[in-house]
Amino acid sequence: MIDSHIHGDSRSYENYQDMNISGIDKAITCAYYPYYIDDSSVLLNHFKRILYYETERAKKAGLYLHVALGLHPANILKSYEDILKEVENLAINKKIIAIGEIGLENNREIEIEIFKEQLHIADNTKTPVIIHTPRKNKLEILHSIKEIVLENIDPRLVVIDHINNSVVNEVIDEEFTLGLTVQPEKMETIEAVDILRKYGFNKFMLNSDVSYMPSDILSVPKTVQKLRMNNFKQKDIEKVSKENAKKFFNIK
Ligand SMILES: [Zn+2]
Repeated sequence: MIDSHIHGDSRSYENYQDMNISGIDKAITCAYYPYYIDDSSVLLNHFKRILYYETERAKKAGLYLHVALGLHPANILKSYEDILKEVENLAINKKIIAIGEIGLENNREIEIEIFKEQLHIADNTKTPVIIHTPRKNKLEILHSIKEIVLENIDPRLVVIDHINNSVVNEVIDEEFTLGLTVQPEKMETIEAVDILRKYGFNKFMLNSDVSYMPSDILSVPKTVQKLRMNNFKQKDIEKVSKENAKKFFNIK
């Protein structure tokens, strides 16, 4: 299995081990810094930690991490140019598998500007992007995200994440891939199963988005088990728990 969106740097070595024991062999770990940021060196260090330290730590525990880095809308700081330059360098040199997670949190002018800049980097370098949608005002902000994405990047490079039943209709007919985040307080396994039953398995990828907040390292294997118990085809289950992510992120 592939967990298509985690924040490994906020979890323990034992979490990595347990994910691997439960059948997850790869995960995409994304940038997001949950603490105080006084200048861009904090975020540049965060990137380095994920790239060079977390990948090694996870590998020792049996989990292969692919890295996505970008400027999260909740991490925006006054001077961010060197962060975007670093994201561009990493994308050009293929050091990251995706730019992420990026997106909009409150639809502020500055968020939109930085979001567009990162979409241009992704489009120019043909790098996939992982796009965050917030919990609050989800539909309204997803609507803005959709418009911005369609104007600024090839939609086939885009996964829009944290999609749920209340907003899926807004994006189901576009060419994006869609992320289903199964997480306490966000979505139960059964809601993900219902969405897949209704909309099919071709556009979706499962993930846990495990972070420093309440989350479940086993949410992908638990959803897979729920799908098996509901007699879905093995081939379809593999699409959302592995094959679609392999294709989208171009994982060998
Ligand atoms: Zn996340």
